[in-house]
Amino acid sequence: MKAIEAFKSKLGYVEVKDLVCPRRAWYRYNMSLRELLAVSDGYRLEAGKVGHKVVLRELELAGCTVEKVVEWGGHRFRVDAICRDEEGEFVVEIKTGTRNADHDIQIKLYMMITGIKRGLLIYPWGFVVVKADDRELEELRKVAELSILYLDAEREEDVPKNTKYCMTCPFKNRCGAKLL
Ligand code: SF4
Repeated sequence: MKAIEAFKSKLGYVEVKDLVCPRRAWYRYNMSLRELLAVSDGYRLEAGKVGHKVVLRELELAGCTVEKVVEWGGHRFRVDAICRDEEGEFVVEIKTGTRNADHDIQIKLYMMITGIKRGLLIYPWGFVVVKADDRELEELRKVAELSILYLDAEREEDVPKNTKYCMTCPFKNRCGAKLL
């Protein structure tokens, strides 16, 4: 519990994409702010902030619920938007840069949390529709539950690795996991 409280005082939240690996989530909780900034995309997010706000405003005008806070596993996460069309609801995440695996993992985690089976990644250059079946969402749910379980582990070596997601992990140098 001590580690979680210390983390909250630093940043106040766990990033949903870190739930794909117990160790990745643990690092996010147990890093100094200096280490955290070194691996986070905070600066890039700052640069994309204006565009992000504009897109959020457009989504809101289109009837979407924006910056929706969802609770899962005792933590609060914020989805950029939840929208609806003739096929039903879909989760929206606004991104900058090129598409990468982390973006897909993040939106799928939100799909798992909300139970919504469609997602839309919005980039400055276009859209990507993301779908996930029940098996994939169930697999993510199990990993995320495990990650939360280990957030408060005292020692790094006690936390198991999940090498499936190492390739795009910002902590891979520190972790030293064997990349698949
Ligand atoms: S490098 Fe792999 S095992 Fe290590 S924290 Fe990242 S995802 Fe987990």
